[in-house]
Amino acid sequence: MQKVSVFWFRRDLRLEDNAGLHAALKSGNPVLPLFIFDREILDDLEDKKDARVSFLHNTLREMKEALETEHGSSLLVRYGYPIEVLKALLQEYDIAAVYTNRDYEPYAKERDGLAEELLSQNGIPFHTFKDHVIFEAEEVCKKDGGTYTVFTPYSRTWRARLQDRVSTVEDENGQTTEISYYFEPHPVKAHAQNFLKSEPIPMPSLADMGFEPTDIEIPSATVSRGLIKNYDKTRDIPSVKGTSRLGIHFRFGTISIREKARRALQLNQTFLNELIWRDFYSQILDQHPHVASRSFRPKYDHIEWRNDPAEFQRWCEGKTGYPIVDAGMRELNTTGYMHNRVRMITASFLTKHLLIDWRWGEAYFAKKLLDFDLASNNGGWQWAAGSGTDAAPYFRVFNPYSQQKKFDKDFKYIKQWVPEFGTDAYPQPMVDHKMARERCLTTYKEGLAKSEA
Ligand SMILES: Cc1cc2nc3c(=O)[nH]c(=O)nc-3n(C[C@H](O)[C@H](O)[C@H](O)COP(=O)(O)OP(=O)(O)OC[C@H]3O[C@@H](n4cnc5c(N)ncnc54)[C@H](O)[C@@H]3O)c2cc1C
Repeated sequence: MQKVSVFWFRRDLRLEDNAGLHAALKSGNPVLPLFIFDREILDDLEDKKDARVSFLHNTLREMKEALETEHGSSLLVRYGYPIEVLKALLQEYDIAAVYTNRDYEPYAKERDGLAEELLSQNGIPFHTFKDHVIFEAEEVCKKDGGTYTVFTPYSRTWRARLQDRVSTVEDENGQTTEISYYFEPHPVKAHAQNFLKSEPIPMPSLADMGFEPTDIEIPSATVSRGLIKNYDKTRDIPSVKGTSRLGIHFRFGTISIREKARRALQLNQTFLNELIWRDFYSQILDQHPHVASRSFRPKYDHIEWRNDPAEFQRWCEGKTGYPIVDAGMRELNTTGYMHNRVRMITASFLTKHLLIDWRWGEAYFAKKLLDFDLASNNGGWQWAAGSGTDAAPYFRVFNPYSQQKKFDKDFKYIKQWVPEFGTDAYPQPMVDHKMARERCLTTYKEGLAKSEA
C-alpha cells in the first residue's frame, strides 16, 4: 500500500493559501484530502434545512471537482464521529502523518486531543498549524507574558507585531512588495502535483445525512475595494450594504484571513480593527474556555434573570413593539444575517430590557446566523450583557429609540423588515423603556452585590 499524508479540512475550506495543506503537500508523501461531516455537531442541529450545512456541502463539492479536474485527485468526505472515522482510515490507508489547521473552540480542542492520542498510539504524527487567525493567543502578550483581556492594548500590540518580521513577496505580475511575514501566503498550487492521484471518490449527499437544501442566499466571498475603502463611513448604517458580509467565509475558511487582513491594512484601518476583534475573541475563548458556558466576569453569574419564555418568543419572532429590534430579528430569521449595530441593539434589549439570560440569545443566534462563530458570538453577547471582557457597563442600557434616531433616522431599515410598522397591525412596545431600564439597574445591582456578600 502506498504511504500517504492525510490533510484534514475543518474550518479552512480552500485550496489556496492554506497553511496546513501547504505543509502536507511539502511533506514528501502524496496527500489525501479529507473532510468529516461531524455527527457530534450535525446531530445537534434542529433545522434540517440548515443553510450552513448546505453551504458546506456545496463548497466541498466544488473543492472535490477542482481536485478531480485540475489535479487528478479527489476529496474523501466521510459522515460520522471523527475518532471513529480516523480509526476506519487507519485500516484503509497506510498513513504516514495527519496534517490539519488548529481550531480553538473547546469541543475542537478536545476532539483534536483524542485524535492525536489515537494517532500516536499508531505511531503516526499529528501536525497542526495556525491558519484561522493572524495571531494565536501567545503571540500577542503583555510585557509580563500574560494574554490580554482588554481590546485596545491588545490591538496596539497586535499591530506592532506585524512589523516584527517583514517578507518580500512576488505578485502574479512578477512585482515584489514587502509585507508582514504574518500575511505571507502559503501557496498550494506550487505543490499541487503532490495530491494523491485517485479516481473520484463518491461523497454523501445532504439527504444521506438527513439534511435538505435551503433557499437562503449565501453572501459572496468577494467584496469590492470601494466598500472596504468606505467601511468606516458606512459600517454603522443597517439600511446600506456598508459591511463586507464575509462572516460566513471567515467562519469556514473559504477565504484567507491573511489575504483579507493584508488588504485591510492597505485600505481601511477600521476594517482591520474588526479583523483584530475576531482574533481577540478567538484568543479569549482559547485562554478562558469557561466563557462558553459562564460569564467572563464570575460576579455576573449572580444576576437573577427573569427568563420569561413568552417574552423570549416575541423577541425571537421580532414582535416586541420596538421597531429597530423587530427589524433586526426579522432580518436574521429571513436571511441568516443581522447587521452588527442591530446585533448590539437586539442583544442589549433581550438581556437588559427583558432580563433574559444572555445564553438564551446566544443560542438563538447560534441557530440562525450564517456566520455563527462561538468565539465572536459569545464575545458579542457577553459584551451586551455586561459580563464580558470589554463589556458595556451594566448601567449603560441602550435606548432603542435613540439608536434608531442615530442609525436609521429615515426608518429605511425598519420599513424594509417591518412593513406593518406605523399601522394598527404593529404591536405596542412589550415593555416601557423607562421602567425596563430601572428594573435592569436594580436587578444587576442586586446580583453584583450578592457576589460581594
Ligand atoms: C450579539 C452579537 C453576536 C455576534 N455574533 C457573531 C458571530 O456569531 N460570528 C461573527 O463572525 N461575528 C459575530 N458578531 C460580530 C459582528 O456583528 C459580525 O462579525 C458582523 O456583523 C458580520 O458581518 P460582516 O461580515 O458584514 O462584518 P464586517 O463588518 O464586514 O467585518 C468583517 C469581519 O470582521 C469580523 N468582525 C467584525 N466585527 C466583529 C466583532 N465585533 N467581533 C468579532 N469579529 C468581528 C468578522 O469576521 C466579519 O466578517 C456578533 C456581534 C454581536 C454584538
